[in-house]
Amino acid sequence: MDVNLVLRSTRVITPEGTRSASIAVSGGTIAAVLPYDAEVPAGARLEDVGDDVVLPGLVDTHVHVNDPGRTEWEGFWTATRAAAAGGITTLLDMPLNSLPPTTTVEHLRIKQDVARTKAHIDVGFWGGALPDNVKDLRPLYDAGVFGFKCFLSPSGVEEFPELDQEQLANSLAEIAGFDGLMIVHAEDPHHLAAAPQKKGEKYADFLASRPRDAENTAIENLINQARRLNARVHVLHLSSSDALPLIAAAKAEGVKITVESCPHFLTLTAEEVPDGATEFKCCPPIREAANQDALWEGLADGTIDCVVSDHSPSTADLKTPDFLSAWGGISSLQLGLPAVWTEARRRGRTLEDVARWMSEAPARLAGLSQKGAIEAGRDADFAVLAPDETFTVDPAELQHRNRLTAYAGKTLHGVVKSTWLRGERIADHGTLAEPSGRLLERNN
Ligand SMILES: [Zn+2]
Repeated sequence: MDVNLVLRSTRVITPEGTRSASIAVSGGTIAAVLPYDAEVPAGARLEDVGDDVVLPGLVDTHVHVNDPGRTEWEGFWTATRAAAAGGITTLLDMPLNSLPPTTTVEHLRIKQDVARTKAHIDVGFWGGALPDNVKDLRPLYDAGVFGFKCFLSPSGVEEFPELDQEQLANSLAEIAGFDGLMIVHAEDPHHLAAAPQKKGEKYADFLASRPRDAENTAIENLINQARRLNARVHVLHLSSSDALPLIAAAKAEGVKITVESCPHFLTLTAEEVPDGATEFKCCPPIREAANQDALWEGLADGTIDCVVSDHSPSTADLKTPDFLSAWGGISSLQLGLPAVWTEARRRGRTLEDVARWMSEAPARLAGLSQKGAIEAGRDADFAVLAPDETFTVDPAELQHRNRLTAYAGKTLHGVVKSTWLRGERIADHGTLAEPSGRLLERNN
């Protein structure tokens, strides 16, 4: 095997722990993880990053790219540049907010065609499960989507209606028939409808409109359906820590359930949201500091499997100061790694934990066996991080299309020095290379 690159660091995060190593790369694949002082093979280039940490490239399985159709909100060019600048080497695009939504094979092909020449990182697609597309699920799966997303409450866009419990059962039964994965926005519509819906700029009013019970009940129902149908399910963007015991019990019992949370739930709190600051609005909402503490415990004990961005931008005009009507979605593609690392280190967690939550576990969730770890045979995807350096978030330096972000002005630990995709440097101190990402399909 011809080694063309050796990436050397005193701190490489491998599945066996952090060690000094020289990573030998051949044809875009990790050929071997060698001792630090291994001789560089003839013809290979040495890149020595000193004491900067080499993590496996991050895998973000929850991104709303919105392209085509709402490209003024975001697009494959800008989203994948932001991801590359933030140490992410693979993203999976959510099936909604683009037009068309990814709910038929024809729609999937339209989206792939749009993404193909714009992808700075590897891009795959989730399909969508709607009340009327059960017959499309198997063909979509065969065409390469990684699983299916559904909502149990209104999604925010009319072309992507939610499933009621009977429709959920029908779709889940179909998907379980081919051992597919259903990923679920779990808020119960009856609890939401019963909650006070007060307009205005007060965050407390918005928080009261999306109560924890809505999440807890939806998750309880989902667990019951997954158990009954022996289906694989995944809870998206968990915010309510009250649901953690339910989920832990279901896992212990053998229900096939996994869970993600997001940087904003783990690093921002309801108490700090200023009046009218709807760049902090998302559904389910950012909750209180005590809730955040419990989510970190859920990460520590493995009840929560992964941390992914739920990057969901819109144009600035839709972020009006009224929390009830403003578009819900937080933009963090470029900032997730430093945001999570900043809070993780404060709580005594390590970069090995962060690599597990943000690379290994999401790769496993999607079945991306080439991604998620620095070991021989996997893609040579890396994020090189200076973990002790700090920076203050300046929206002007973000690559995503609409630079509104809840993190503006925050000082974060962890500067992404470079990002590598299949052995090529795609981001170098904030400078992006030409697009070289591939379109991923399930089992590729
Ligand atoms: Zn989302």
